[in-house]
Amino acid sequence: MDERDKPQYHMTPDEFRRHGRAVVEWIASYMERVETLPVLSEVAPGEVMAAMPTAAPEQGEPFDAMMRDLDAVVMPGITHWQHPGFFGYFPCNASGPAILGDLISSGLGVQGMLWQTSPACTEVETRVLDWLVAALELPAVFLSTESGGGVIQDSASSATLCALLAARERKTGGASNRDGLAAASAQPTGHIVAYTSTQAHSSVAKAAMVAGLGRASLRAIDVDDQQAMRPEALAEAIRADLAAGLVPAFVCATIGSTSSHAIDPVRAIAEICGQHGLWLHIDAAAAGPAALCPEYRWIHDGVELADSYSFNPHKWMFTNFDCNCFYVRDRQALISALGIMPEYLRNAATESGQVFDYRDWQIPLGRRFRALKLWFVLRWYGLDGLRAHLRRHIELTQRFRAWVEADPNLVVAAPAPLNLVCFRHIAGDEASERVLNAVNESGHAYLTHTRLSGAYVLRMSIGAIASEAEHVEAAWRLVAAAAASASA
Ligand code: PLP
Repeated sequence: MDERDKPQYHMTPDEFRRHGRAVVEWIASYMERVETLPVLSEVAPGEVMAAMPTAAPEQGEPFDAMMRDLDAVVMPGITHWQHPGFFGYFPCNASGPAILGDLISSGLGVQGMLWQTSPACTEVETRVLDWLVAALELPAVFLSTESGGGVIQDSASSATLCALLAARERKTGGASNRDGLAAASAQPTGHIVAYTSTQAHSSVAKAAMVAGLGRASLRAIDVDDQQAMRPEALAEAIRADLAAGLVPAFVCATIGSTSSHAIDPVRAIAEICGQHGLWLHIDAAAAGPAALCPEYRWIHDGVELADSYSFNPHKWMFTNFDCNCFYVRDRQALISALGIMPEYLRNAATESGQVFDYRDWQIPLGRRFRALKLWFVLRWYGLDGLRAHLRRHIELTQRFRAWVEADPNLVVAAPAPLNLVCFRHIAGDEASERVLNAVNESGHAYLTHTRLSGAYVLRMSIGAIASEAEHVEAAWRLVAAAAASASA
């Protein structure tokens, strides 16, 4: 075919090089200017869609046109999670090394469902997850060289669901997968129940829904005045369920709850799980990275007794979304819950039994090469570099907490050992809400809220890479001024 007759749809390597440079330049200048943008997007619902044509283009367009629309159409609809004034939810950090690792992962275009479909995709992941066992001082049983192992999931929600499925599989001896839930509940193993605290993330309830247990089979255990699960209430609920002929199978404890960073008493909970043969999963999605610092390893007290554990590098370990590290004590329990082998995936490496096929450790078949960005992050910062940033965030948070404590209009609403402070206005919910709205309307800082013991509470979550002392101080000035006027 004559060169000129070839359809020119694909981007050539040269075009990619040129546009790729422009894109990297665009991202770098975004990093430089993000602070000048309002943290929270100000668009109205439907505004972004209205700026786009209602049908896809028939003819290809120049790349420059896309970049123009990136600025004109997309950017007004972005809430800037990388803004130094982003103190909402928990952080969701993007760092240079992670972005570049992700870019290379896209460039390689690997689908790493099996060891064979890219051995490096599996082996880099295994090695890096083993590194993190030592770095966080997690139990050695989570190592790939022991009975357990770690795997990257898209999210903590998926990790919890996988843990629940493995727990059920173990409890029913495989009946729930083989025969279905209805048949399994008719067996002597009976109707499975699960437990978590009232403060657990909503993903635990969702896991119960998706697993087919139903929300009614998930017991929300009461918490103490620190918002941590009451082990005696857990023991009582398990006893009641056993007496009713039900089958307690799974507990999800939280290290660093979403609302207030509450830390469940894992050791006491693990003892109860041990007595009754329940699977204990630890959700440390947000707080887990603190254990990189020896002085915060106490948050992991009792984790050596857990069956599984997960945390999110995509929250507070500078690794772009999505990246959750999920560890199990017994990988066979997980694989028997999730493994399945159609003919078209059979291969010699799998049959040799010498390799991990991570498709059997997760719900979807396909998987991205996410380990690359995590590997890049760990190598770029080093553990020492990561610790320095975590300590800085915690130190800034403790400064903020002290300011709240000293303010006559505000009170701290929960213990704040790490990088989250919950606080409220002494005049009540309406005043607290007014403070939140005033701060967020400023465009310079963004906080979110929750309810603790029924009260409306503001959350100051410090963990964005760009957040420095000056940004925390500026946010505090906004909070203090709004609190004073809410009192007036
Ligand atoms: N668990 C806890 C304690 C969380 O705080 C969150 C999110 O904030 C999640 C789970 C859900 O995380 P993901 O979005 O990774 O599913």
